[in-house]
Amino acid sequence: MSVSGLPPYDPQNIFARILRGEIPCKRVHEDEFALAFHDINPLTPTHVLVIPKGEYVSAADFHANAGDAAIAGFWRAVGKVAKDLGLEGSGYRILSNMGPDGGQEVPHFHVHIFGGRRLGRMMPRE
Ligand code: AMP
Repeated sequence: MSVSGLPPYDPQNIFARILRGEIPCKRVHEDEFALAFHDINPLTPTHVLVIPKGEYVSAADFHANAGDAAIAGFWRAVGKVAKDLGLEGSGYRILSNMGPDGGQEVPHFHVHIFGGRRLGRMMPRE
């Protein structure tokens, strides 16, 4: 853990390797701030991941430590990707898992975009 309580960034995580081009991805969008690609194990007819270009472990790290331009650019990319995927009319869900309770598996901040069918309740009740 660093002094902030966040784990240090692991440059060998799978999304870092995708950003460096060491592992292929099915890319749907790339700009100066973000890369978007199809999830390898889709949970819905459309399931795309958007990741920032910078090295941020999680949502907490990104929102505390990224610059204003990086945050704005990233979230604009999320909106553009959802629109370009044709999801605005039918709707979609964006989600980011953070840390152990959030079930985050890959330690590079990412947002899931889910769509293509009725998604039901936000989360099952306990
Ligand atoms: P999370 O639990 O939010 O960390 O989700 C990580 C997501 O990354 C999962 O939905 C995985 O299916 C997805 N994933 C893992 N490896 C890859 C990969 N090489 N390409 C695309 N998606 C991946």
